[in-house]
Amino acid sequence: MSVAVKHVDAFHRSLSGIDPEAARILEGDLRRQRGNAVLIPSENYASPAVLAAQGSVMTNKYAEGYPGSRYYNGCEWMDAIESLVIERTKALFNAEHVNAQTHSGSQANVAAFQALLEPGDRILSMQLSHGGHLSHGLAQNIAGKLYDVAFYGVEEETGRIDLNKVADLAESHRPRLIIVGGSAYPRLIDFAPWREIADSVGAHLLADIAHIAGLIAGGVHPSPFGHADVVTTTTHKTLRGPRGALVMCRADLASAIDRAVFPGLQGGPFMHAMAARAVNLKEAMEPSFKEYAAQVVKNAAALADGLLSAGFELVSGGTDNHLMLVDLRKRPFSGKRAADRLEEAGIIVNRNSIPNDPRSPFVTSGLRPGSPALTTRGMGESEMRFIAERMAAAVKQSTGEKGRAAIRAEVKELCARFPIYPDISYLS
Ligand SMILES: *Cc1c(COP(=O)(O)O)cnc(C)c1O
Repeated sequence: MSVAVKHVDAFHRSLSGIDPEAARILEGDLRRQRGNAVLIPSENYASPAVLAAQGSVMTNKYAEGYPGSRYYNGCEWMDAIESLVIERTKALFNAEHVNAQTHSGSQANVAAFQALLEPGDRILSMQLSHGGHLSHGLAQNIAGKLYDVAFYGVEEETGRIDLNKVADLAESHRPRLIIVGGSAYPRLIDFAPWREIADSVGAHLLADIAHIAGLIAGGVHPSPFGHADVVTTTTHKTLRGPRGALVMCRADLASAIDRAVFPGLQGGPFMHAMAARAVNLKEAMEPSFKEYAAQVVKNAAALADGLLSAGFELVSGGTDNHLMLVDLRKRPFSGKRAADRLEEAGIIVNRNSIPNDPRSPFVTSGLRPGSPALTTRGMGESEMRFIAERMAAAVKQSTGEKGRAAIRAEVKELCARFPIYPDISYLS
């Protein structure tokens, strides 16, 4: 058993003596994580080392400011850990400047907007229902309130972005910022033409790689570095780290980005998350992470093939990355109904709007399955095909409660063969 596992295990066991109520809840979710097949493409399993670092003494320190210029005393080790994160991030992504303090992907985007825009400025971004993200300008989001947002989308026929149309929209709207990257786009993004479009109208280019950061780090997806002015990402999706985010940018934007994060948006950084980020980045630099990223893509392709063979339709007909969008418009049930039936069968997947969805964003006509979490458990292509078949059976009305319980037993057995956190013991 590794030292990190022992640490997390000991923590779980000691918590049950201190706060049995909270411990019981943690144990409940450990059981859920172990016993279900998680296909939510934005979720993953951080390593025990990341969990241990996140649960470390670094939670106790205020460190407003940046390494070498803090507003609090006693920051020697805070400077050390943040500098380590910055250096590792630069090396991993080939980034010129890194701000490692934002608490989440949405905040990383707000920081980028604060650095690049004035209120009222225009943004061109991908429509949420076509695969964008709420932080890119949804009316109810701060971005939608502060800025004048125009949207591009995907083509109904192909499910893909037509770059000529984006160029036309840029020409007619003259945005100050173009955002590329989303949360439900199953195809590769080549960032070079986006740079050309941005340059053609004098706009900044923001690449939001929250979903694909691990694929880029692993060398199986094109990189935005060298093309985008600012790159934002979460650290907890395909990158497989602690919850949090990074803002990366060209050297000349460094101080604008840093001031936008602190004091523009946040007070003290979460230094326990910083410690966990350091450990995660080291993991992402190992050769085994490249293998992981490659397997994520292979597994997504196998899952997509399996779903197509089982009769599902996929937006754009498949996937190049870690996720796919199932189009349920021709089915007699919604995304919500399908996701609830799948949960009964031990398969956790999120419903998702699809382009031109006739149903509301709360109900939807789509599902967004992906492979990152199952790949972390060690599953491969044959397991993906198995899961695709069981998904097809589980969503059918005729399968019924009994049928879904039977599938749940099979999925549980599969999960037991690919255990996650096997050495963290249960409390009871
Ligand atoms: C997940 C995601 C975010 C936001 O991340 P949070 O940490 O949930 O705020 C931002 N942009 C994209 C494209 C995402 O997929």
